[in-house]
Formats: sequence, C-alpha cells, structure tokens
Amino acid sequence: MLWLAFGPSHAMENQVLVIRIKIPNRGAVDWTVNSGPQLLFRDVLDVIGQVLPEATTTAFEYEDEDGDRITVRSDEEMKAMLSYYYSTVMEQQVNGQLIEPLQIFPRACKPPGERNIHGLKVNTRAGPSQHSSPAISDALPSNSLKKSSAELKKILANGQMNEQDIRYRDTLGHGNGGTVYKAYHVPSGKILAVKVILLDITLELQKQIMSELEILYKCDSSYIIGFYGAFFVENRISICTEFMDGGSLDVYRKIPEHVLGRIAVAVVKGLTYLWSLKILHRDVKPSNMLVNTRGQVKLCDFGVSTQLVNSIAKTYVGTNAYMAPERISGEQYGIHSDVWSLGISFMEPLQLLQCIVDEDSPVLPVGEFSEPFVHFITQCMRKQPKERPAPEELMGHPFIVQFNDGNATVVSMWVCRALEERRSQHGPP
Ligand code: ATP
Ligand code: MG
Repeated sequence: MLWLAFGPSHAMENQVLVIRIKIPNRGAVDWTVNSGPQLLFRDVLDVIGQVLPEATTTAFEYEDEDGDRITVRSDEEMKAMLSYYYSTVMEQQVNGQLIEPLQIFPRACKPPGERNIHGLKVNTRAGPSQHSSPAISDALPSNSLKKSSAELKKILANGQMNEQDIRYRDTLGHGNGGTVYKAYHVPSGKILAVKVILLDITLELQKQIMSELEILYKCDSSYIIGFYGAFFVENRISICTEFMDGGSLDVYRKIPEHVLGRIAVAVVKGLTYLWSLKILHRDVKPSNMLVNTRGQVKLCDFGVSTQLVNSIAKTYVGTNAYMAPERISGEQYGIHSDVWSLGISFMEPLQLLQCIVDEDSPVLPVGEFSEPFVHFITQCMRKQPKERPAPEELMGHPFIVQFNDGNATVVSMWVCRALEERRSQHGPP
C-alpha cells in the first residue's frame, strides 16, 4: 500500500500500482498491481478482457497532462505510459496530495454491449469526490493475482529465495516470536511479508524446521496466506509470505456485523482447510487473520512446525487471551480448541476480559448483535470442548450460511475505507 512513503522514484516504482479501468457509462474498476514496472501490455489486455468479457479490446488509452488521449498498443508504449504516470505520482507526492490511480480507457473493436460485471467491484462515483476517494482495489478474484503468485512460486521453487535478494522495508509489526517486515524481492519484483525470528538452535533443529515447513508449499487455499519460502541465516529464520495490504484484524475497531460475517466465513473456511490437512492452527487470534484491499481474508502463523513452535516457546512462555480453557489447564489440544479461539476472536475486547475472569462462558449483549451471531460465538465458546461445533457444523451454522455469498466487495470497501481513514489521521507511515 503506502508506497507514497518511499523517497526515490525507483523504490516507489516497485510498489503497488492501482490501475483504474474506465468502463464507458458504467464507472470504473480498480485493479491493484503489485509490480508496475514488470507489467506487460498483454497482462493489461487480459484484465480488461475479464472486466469487459464481451468486447474485443486491442488497445487502451491514457490521458496526458493536457487531457489528450494517448494510445497504448505495445510494451514500449506501456513503458512510456508508466514512466509518465510515475512522474505525476512524484509530483503528487511532493505536493502532499493523494496519489491518484492510473486511469486507462479500453478501446474495443466491437461495442461491448451489456457486460457481466457481476462480482467485480465497480466504482461508479464520478466528479470531484473521485479525486479524494481511496485507492479502492479491484475484486477481480482473480487470474491476475493467481498468475503473479504462481510466477513467484515458480521462481522461488528454484531455490532462489535468499537474503541477498530481499530488501527489507517497513516494519509491519512485532510479535512474541519475531518481527514482520514488508520487503521487496528483487528477482520477482514482488512485495513480501518476511517474518524474522531469532532462534539459537543447532543445525540439526534448523534442518528439522525447514523440512516441517515444506508442507506450506502444498497449502493451496485462498483463505491461507501464500508461502514463498524460508531460510536460515546465522541464528535467525526468515519466513517469506504473501503481503496483505490491509494488515491484521486486531488493528480494526468496531467491525460491522455484515463485514465481520464475511470475514468469519473466510476464517472458518481457512480453518476447515487446515484441519482437512490434519493441521491444527494453535494460534487463532485477530492478529493472525489478515485482510487486503481485494477483500480477501487469510489465516497466517499456524503451527505446522512443531520444532519451530517449541523453539519459539523456549524464549516465550505464556498464555494469551484467545487460548481455550483446556489448553490453559494443560489438557489435550484439538480442533475444538481452535474453535474456542475462533469464537473469542470475534468478540469485543470487553467481553474478552470478562471471559478470563468469569466462571461461565461469556455471552454477547443481545440487541447489539444479531441472534445468529450471538449463537455462533456462544456455541464456539462452550466450556466443554466436545460441545463446541464440529467443522461441518460451523459451515452449516446460520450465521456462516447467511454470509457465505462470496461477496468480497463488502470486505474490500471496508478495508479501503479504514486504510484511508488511518492515512488521513496519521499520514503515510
Ligand atoms: P504473536 O507473535 O503472538 O503471534 P502477532 O501475530 O501480533 O503476535 P507477528 O505474527 O509477529 O505477531 O506479526 C506482527 C504483525 O505483523 C501482525 O500483527 C500483522 O499486523 C503484521 N503481519 C504479519 N504478517 C503479515 C502479512 N503477511 N502481511 C501484512 N502484515 C502482516
Ligand atoms: Mg502473528
């Protein structure tokens, strides 16, 4: 996201680029591209093809500073457009203005007619307010993202992931185990999140951790954070994953129920996927639920490597507010314990505190939340592990069923708005 924070233009160019595809008489669709300079002409045509499936688009145009339309038909012309756009970005940055997306106007061979843009986030706002609107991302589900992460995986599968290729940028946050950085991966031009954990362990244990992490390459779910590789340098391990521009849920306040519902659906699907692979998450909590401006919700930091969990536990001993009672009292940990943490993650901090003190499981105040939501939380937080819903019961719960409509736009809009608010309150980080 906040690439406007970086000074030199070459660093800036490696950051996220938002392309606003203007649709005649229909508004626009915003497309977030992670590596602008690497973008090819045919990539843009591919995405335009998804936005306007019934039109045969062969070229597109952009506007120069005088408002003249310039046609783009080749990679060379793409480069010229991008370099023009980045110069305008520099100018906006210097003047402290909001960075406007790159607007393009598809040129169709035949009239597009009525198009199926269902599922795409369409920005229909027009006029001056558009200029101060957040850089709303697309909700293209989407081949474009899949393609880029597939490309990245290919590069990384060749064992090219190493410290020399990574440029650490901002610190995204500190946890008990380590620090997470936003980083730039030079060979692929992608932005990553790299978690660095200091571990004073033997080479043998390092190897064991690396082999236990192998399973992450096989995790393939849109509800689980993408894994790109891990490596040890001296006494620290770096774990490289997909960067989520909305960050983790713990920093969002007061999430409205219709948004929370969609987030809960994704979290339940992510957990169900992990459980199907016989992986227990073991650390379900809002800071391990990540969101992005595309409206995706993904789980991270699940305990695939027992050795990694043990090694971190040596330097940090403690419980957290999301742990199930049976875990705190040292009994067996199972799927049900993840379900408890799922329930408590979706409660307000106030009830969370109550829960630690009270004998009985907490109940949400009726009236503020819908009955299915309150029921869902209450069921997940039954004191007896066996009384909590099993995976298929979670998926079939009315609260989950109600919001299981694949509407990523709701989450996308909410993330974009929250980021924009944060930006206007604190300025770029
Ligand atoms: P704990 O160490 O107890 O798990 P935590 O989850 O807050 O606590 P970290 O896992 O180290 O700590 O993460 C620190 C912060 O980094 C998170 O709160 C989150 O905001 C951010 N973060 C982690 N992974 C990503 C990612 N892939 N994309 C964007 N932000 C991330
Ligand atoms: Mg975490």
